[in-house]
Amino acid sequence: MLKDQDRIFTNLYGMHERSLAGARARGHWDGTAAIIGKGRDWIIDEMKASGLRGRGGAGFPTGLKWSFMPKESDGRPAYLVINADESEPGTCKDREIMRHDPHTLIEGALIASFAMGAHAAYIYIRGEYVREREALQAAIDEAYDAGLLGRNAAKSGWDFDLYLTHGAGAYICGEETAMLESLEGKKGMPRMKPPFPAGAGLYGCPTTVNNVESIAVVPTILRRGGDWFASFGRPNNAGTKLFAISGHVNNPCVVEEEMSIPFKELIDRHCGGIRGGWDNLKAVIPGGSSVPLLPGKIMEEDAIMDFDWLREQRSGLGTAAVIVMDKSVDVIAAIWRLSKFYKHESCGQCTPCREGTGWMMRVMERLVTGDAEIEEIDMLWDVTRQVEGHTICALGDAAAWPIQGLIRHFRDEIEERIRARKAGSRVAAQ
Ligand code: SF4
Repeated sequence: MLKDQDRIFTNLYGMHERSLAGARARGHWDGTAAIIGKGRDWIIDEMKASGLRGRGGAGFPTGLKWSFMPKESDGRPAYLVINADESEPGTCKDREIMRHDPHTLIEGALIASFAMGAHAAYIYIRGEYVREREALQAAIDEAYDAGLLGRNAAKSGWDFDLYLTHGAGAYICGEETAMLESLEGKKGMPRMKPPFPAGAGLYGCPTTVNNVESIAVVPTILRRGGDWFASFGRPNNAGTKLFAISGHVNNPCVVEEEMSIPFKELIDRHCGGIRGGWDNLKAVIPGGSSVPLLPGKIMEEDAIMDFDWLREQRSGLGTAAVIVMDKSVDVIAAIWRLSKFYKHESCGQCTPCREGTGWMMRVMERLVTGDAEIEEIDMLWDVTRQVEGHTICALGDAAAWPIQGLIRHFRDEIEERIRARKAGSRVAAQ
């Protein structure tokens, strides 16, 4: 279990002052200039040593990502873009950082930008996060007033400006290239890659897009050392992590824990157990709505909450938004609801996603009532396989995977419903 002295986020629940004075009292903005004084290479090496993998869902190594930025400018400016468009159903961890511990993010933005040669960074916050935007903007203003941002930021010798941009509530703007389009004032539609943002991103300039949590943990990692961070979790799954647990647990919460914590320990220790006891657990979506669900038994007995273990189960850690479902849940209807969400949020740019999400949703609709043929389950599976990996961005995968998880683990239940419906119709006809 993570000890209190090893927590990076010391005001996750808003029990203390979120102001600059409060943040300083908790150790933030301590020695920032000295960290920057150690230079770009030192920072990137230390981040690589920490083993931090991106906290926005994909889990790409953060230090490595930074190292893709050009060492020397060819005349174009470089940018850091911070993805605060936290829109994945079930995911609500970054909001706690922004509204209660915003200075972790602002200090991280300065250090990370310096490490990639950027004099400006943009935070793109989702449209629905109005209070979070206000809290974050107030913290940014405070930081400017205190000389921590702007010219010679925090007396580091580095000029740095931080801008907060408010989105309009489209899920797809959380996709990194759609976010860049939106920042440029265009419709938020994903770009084809390559070119990757590190080569040509915002306004055609070298850009790195990082998640809020990935940036907010940077100052503490550099103050305490990459090795300290790497000492938590399993190899390749290092560090501490915010878990956002919702659904049928006794106390839903967002909590910072050690990576690779067993699922059972996470739920018993922080959420007061499953509603109605462990025998009442039906299924768990372990990483936000786009990853396949896993049956309760697997989760209870073996699950380790990290990237590699969950991938081995053909699911994923994603954003570590854990959605717990007890036996009162109609799991087919739950996955249909997610299909409806992805259909609604498809930007419509590529055919497999535009047509496939609607097609999948309509079949799911009939599976909920049982008004389908058994063979349609395989047809639906085939469609998910044709959408998956054949689209410009990952929304196609995100729409396909939950359905694959459902068919993989709850096929019996789908078939049973279809048979019951047919039997019911026969009885009604007679
Ligand atoms: Fe748009 Fe869907 Fe294609 Fe992504 S996969 S670019 S959301 S149509």
